[in-house]
Amino acid sequence: MTTMKTTDSSGDVRLSGISKTYGSFTAVHPLDLTVPQGSFFALLGASGCGKTTTLRMIAGLEEPTTGTVRLGDQDVTALPPYKRPVNTVFQSYALFPHLDIFENVAFGLRRRGIKSVKKQVEDMLELVQLGEQARKKPHQLSGGQQQRVAVARALINHPKVLLLDEPLGALDLKLRRQMQLELKRIQTEVGITFVHVTHDQEEAMTMADTVAVMNAGRVEQLGAPTDLYENPQTTFVANFLGTSNLIEAEVDTKSGDDIVLKAGGGKLVLPEARCSAPTTAGGRVLVGVRPEKISLTHADDAGEIPEGRNRVTGRIADASFIGVSTQYVIDSPVCDELAVYVQNVERDGRLVPGAEVVLHWNPAHTFGLDATQDIDAGIEEEAV
Ligand code: ATP
Repeated sequence: MTTMKTTDSSGDVRLSGISKTYGSFTAVHPLDLTVPQGSFFALLGASGCGKTTTLRMIAGLEEPTTGTVRLGDQDVTALPPYKRPVNTVFQSYALFPHLDIFENVAFGLRRRGIKSVKKQVEDMLELVQLGEQARKKPHQLSGGQQQRVAVARALINHPKVLLLDEPLGALDLKLRRQMQLELKRIQTEVGITFVHVTHDQEEAMTMADTVAVMNAGRVEQLGAPTDLYENPQTTFVANFLGTSNLIEAEVDTKSGDDIVLKAGGGKLVLPEARCSAPTTAGGRVLVGVRPEKISLTHADDAGEIPEGRNRVTGRIADASFIGVSTQYVIDSPVCDELAVYVQNVERDGRLVPGAEVVLHWNPAHTFGLDATQDIDAGIEEEAV
């Protein structure tokens, strides 16, 4: 099996103050970003946020307006694409239709004048699990198989960094999911740096170690998928990655490591460490909680809810049974429409539209955001 694992930093991607403007329009605001050698990094954002432009500046296909691109210790800002130790896989994989799969993969080696390509090509085809397909033509392969040929064709050049620009965009959903796992496996096996551009949050979270969420030409937040999901720092990230309930609240007091907030006539508790907004008394905070963190109890049983949980009363406005869970929409004094997802383990038949309920959750699952932001940022973009 081919292995290119290294422990050096020659595959680090370092962007310093890199930006791109077109006339008076800024596609990418000055950006500092380091992608460590060997990581699977995703640039995630809605259409037009500047992720492809950022990737193209790394590839050398777009000249930055300001800033530098370094690969390892080398400043490659002035180098043309073919002199950079990177390869790009695009959504349209553009294989050579008249060449068979073996020759498509061998192409980069032959162009460099390498004569004995057999072992390398075979290893590469094995890596992408297409050893059996070597003598087929591209049109005889499925979309997913063709995309794997495109990956093999890029990897055979031993790039320090592989850039992937929406590589799974042309595939149907099922194949996309399969290929996500496949690409992750390949990346782990070869150990080189992958920088992947996608608008699909699930795709970014499935594959990448680190995700940079971009919005309007800026990185809003960067971190491991779980960190971004559990601790969003902005309303855009909270709404773009999954669903968040955001409740407008006012800081009341502090109690130990917690902040106590007033919301809709009740009190909510938020660990101070999980609040990215100022926490002075009287200040406004958006209190966030994910729908699956909330439990739903019929109002008649409210006495059974353990002490120490955040509680909000409400009425079920809508309930959608989707098999694995039931998704409720709750009208409440703190917020018009709160989303609650309940796993279908033991279903309470009383939890139907019109029922009075108490929503409750562990305060540790609460996050706090600056209330001066647009509460709906990132919601429409999710559907792109
Ligand atoms: P998509 O997923 O739709 O490709 P993106 O996040 O990758 O979106 P970019 O392609 O990086 O977005 O484009 C960022 C912004 O820059 C967009 O508003 C786009 O219209 C603009 N833009 C890109 N290329 C040019 C160009 N050559 N001239 C003018 N504006 C451009």
